[in-house]
Amino acid sequence: MTVSFSIIQEDNRTMARAGVLHTLRGDVETPVFMPVGTQATVKTMTPREVEELGARLILSNTYHLYLRPGADLIREAGGLHRFMGWNGPILTDSGGFQVFSLASLCRIEDNGVWFRSHIDGSEHFFSPEKAVAVQEALGSDIAMAFDQCAPYPCSYEEAREATERTSRWALRCREASRREDQALFGIIQGGVHRDLREKSVKDLLALDFPGYGIGGLSVGEPKEVMYEVLDYTVPLLPPHKPRYLMGVGSPDCLLEGVARGVDMFDCVLPTRIARNGTVFTRDGKLVVRNAAYARDFRPLDPECGCYACRHFTRAYIRHLLKANEVLGIRLTTLHNLHFILELMRNIRRAILEGSFLEFKEAFLARWNKN
Ligand SMILES: [Zn+2]
Repeated sequence: MTVSFSIIQEDNRTMARAGVLHTLRGDVETPVFMPVGTQATVKTMTPREVEELGARLILSNTYHLYLRPGADLIREAGGLHRFMGWNGPILTDSGGFQVFSLASLCRIEDNGVWFRSHIDGSEHFFSPEKAVAVQEALGSDIAMAFDQCAPYPCSYEEAREATERTSRWALRCREASRREDQALFGIIQGGVHRDLREKSVKDLLALDFPGYGIGGLSVGEPKEVMYEVLDYTVPLLPPHKPRYLMGVGSPDCLLEGVARGVDMFDCVLPTRIARNGTVFTRDGKLVVRNAAYARDFRPLDPECGCYACRHFTRAYIRHLLKANEVLGIRLTTLHNLHFILELMRNIRRAILEGSFLEFKEAFLARWNKN
């Protein structure tokens, strides 16, 4: 088995569990947050810095790398790990989400999707077989099946079609998968409809994937709706396989996802808001770019032990951001990744100690106060 999963401790009062994801490139403790390296780089950070922050598993992006620099070039470079200088495990998404959200769509047919590149408008075709072939060329440790993510809101009929197509495509991905050193995870769709989620789970469990992504959430629906979908979807998934909630990364959603039995998360949010001058603190988000912090000589988060908080003030980092100095966004990125990765470590420790619910409530009480 390329990827296997062991549960170390289950929480008595919630669905939370602490586990270990075993990969050929090392073990990953769960629940885990995967920093996103869209273009084969976690923006502004070197792989060594990402590793020193405690990240073990990162995500990279099939759609982006297929368009630029191209999967063949990365294969020629010796695969994605060697190309980007990251020796730990990598998960690649299938490109489905970007094809449906970023590219201008030409045509969806049962065989695949015609789309235009968001970079130069050139026309491309992605099918389940193509998505698998590109991910095999990249050589990621975990590949994702090509899925159709329906937008929110959309009609029931549209959600049903996307769900059924995702199931047909999942089978084709599994049949196309060749690499024995790469695990392929299926993706559950179904929008916000319970019967469609149930159908999607049933179809995908029949294909016996080593792990399952929960897709089609965090696409604009209210958080309560997302939690409700998780409440009825996660219990249908096999307990001994990892569950990955795709595209979720705000601290409150991570806690609520873990409480509902999710093991893996990824999101561009921590790094994206960092580049816009927003940082996480234990008391909620802080827009350090704002004038209010011009003479604030405290760290970004006084309780944070990251390099940025140990050495620099809000006033200095704000100055760097205002002056468009690249160190500014490096420091905010470093802090935000540290914050999220430390949160995941604390969540895991609390699960192991039997105090997850108290930890979650205490964290959210402060987080939501402002
Ligand atoms: Zn910090």
